[in-house]
Amino acid sequence: MLGLMQQQPLLVSTLLRHAARHHGAAEVISATEAGAVHHTTWADSERRARQLARALQALGVREADRIGTLAWNDYRHLEVYYATSGMQAICHTINPRLSPDDIAYIINHAGDSALFIDPGFAALIGGIAARIADHVRTVVIMTDPAGMPALDLRPGMRLLCYDQLMAEADDDYAWPSFDENTASALCYTSGTTGRPKGVLYSHRSTVIHAYAIALPDVLDLRATSRILPVVPMFHVNAWGIPYATALTGSALVLPGRHLDGASLARLLNQERVTMTCGVPTVWLGLLQHLRSSGEKLATVRRIMTGGSAAPPLLIEAFRDEFGVAVEHGWGMTELSPVGTYNAAKPSQVGLTGEAAARHMLKQGRVLPGLDMKIIDGDGHELPWDGKQFGDLLVRGPWVCSSYFGESESACDADGWFATGDVATIDPDGYMEITDRSKDVIKSGGEWISSITLENIAVSHPDVAEAAVVAARHPKWDERPLLLVVPRPGHTIDPRSVLDSYRGLVAKWWLPDAVLVVDQLPHTATGKLLKTALRDRYRNYYQTAATKEE
Ligand code: ADP
Repeated sequence: MLGLMQQQPLLVSTLLRHAARHHGAAEVISATEAGAVHHTTWADSERRARQLARALQALGVREADRIGTLAWNDYRHLEVYYATSGMQAICHTINPRLSPDDIAYIINHAGDSALFIDPGFAALIGGIAARIADHVRTVVIMTDPAGMPALDLRPGMRLLCYDQLMAEADDDYAWPSFDENTASALCYTSGTTGRPKGVLYSHRSTVIHAYAIALPDVLDLRATSRILPVVPMFHVNAWGIPYATALTGSALVLPGRHLDGASLARLLNQERVTMTCGVPTVWLGLLQHLRSSGEKLATVRRIMTGGSAAPPLLIEAFRDEFGVAVEHGWGMTELSPVGTYNAAKPSQVGLTGEAAARHMLKQGRVLPGLDMKIIDGDGHELPWDGKQFGDLLVRGPWVCSSYFGESESACDADGWFATGDVATIDPDGYMEITDRSKDVIKSGGEWISSITLENIAVSHPDVAEAAVVAARHPKWDERPLLLVVPRPGHTIDPRSVLDSYRGLVAKWWLPDAVLVVDQLPHTATGKLLKTALRDRYRNYYQTAATKEE
């Protein structure tokens, strides 16, 4: 027997409509290129998104068309998010930090018919115009007429100005209703191995994910919250925050292009931000700025960190010096992206000192709606003892089932998606990433966690950044090799870094060598590019052994 409740599809436009109708005056604030701050409201954003939908209709955009964006976090990008999805087209966010070659590949693979770009990316698009001319018919620069850059496109491609387009459009559009399983947005993985793959979110997955991340034990979003996502809207929908803040009617503060410590501190204080979200490197930059300038954070109470493991010093420094809780979450493009969040259960409430610090490093409990498990090399589920680590699998309504344009499933027959992460799960259900499966070091048949070794290295006072990679070893198969970048004005003594491991890890986990380097390579999302390091240093111990002979 079916229930007798209304069937209303879960659509992205319903989030925006809710924000406009019930939190119309709640603010949407954007730092602009010119250094000014632009203020608008959710009500106005909704009206302008409808206006943009009209303009898109006039441009010939239809259902299921992919509309690419190359833009920083600001109100225009937010309007494109909602207008495209709301009219049943697909908002395809593109990461401008990828190589031009990957960007051209992604635009063609997605079949983007129009691009909405910030003026600063005009040269990038100009450089690949010939390669994307088969698909892209329209390029809209997200600026006013005065800010239009010179851009040479190919014949058949038209160049338009966003503000002019808006000025000519009516706002009489009405959001249509349609199947909630319709695609709403597309985002490609960073492609650290092989070509990027497209993850195609649906309206349903996006709305359910928004509900999940707004929960008290995740972002704890309220109408009184003021949230600044440093995480870019060009990658995994800024962790879903543009949707979740509309759901809760929170104020949304968008930082634009300048993500350095000084610019962030200014915006956080000026706009009375209560919570901010981003990757550890951003927080290290903010920390450095606060320490050197003596500024404080007046209203920020919590920082969500994710994307890569949070170094312990980050959590301790913000707590002890600035009274801000750094909270750890984990996720990935294929998960919309949030999968776990580290919020306390009753058994953690009383934790203090070392035990509390240790616990905060874990990536957290699975969000309700998802499930997770760890398995060994033979596919057998491993116990949740916080010690044994294995491949992490997840499933749930906001996990990808297959990649865009690929026919085969991305999961097994029971819906489990292999994340490519290696993790432990403790008896309370807290997951801790010990590695990417490709980064784990297999020494004499046992596994060594590169992340654990990196975390200890970056706690050393002379070390700014560290990477541990597996290098081939004649006896042990693989052994850890530590690469460290000195902090400005510091000199690293490798012996002292090795000493800092004593008592923290088993002796056989200690890196066999420490190399001091000027810099480390990063991916387009700011993570260590371990593939490049592995390629470069794979034979380090074998070469070193030959040299010694
Ligand atoms: P990218 O941003 O590199 O495209 P994703 O955002 O999909 O890719 O990256 C997901 C991966 O990032 C995860 O599989 C995991 O390895 C890593 N990651 C994400 N959050 C954390 C975290 N809190 N701690 C450690 N690793 C993390």
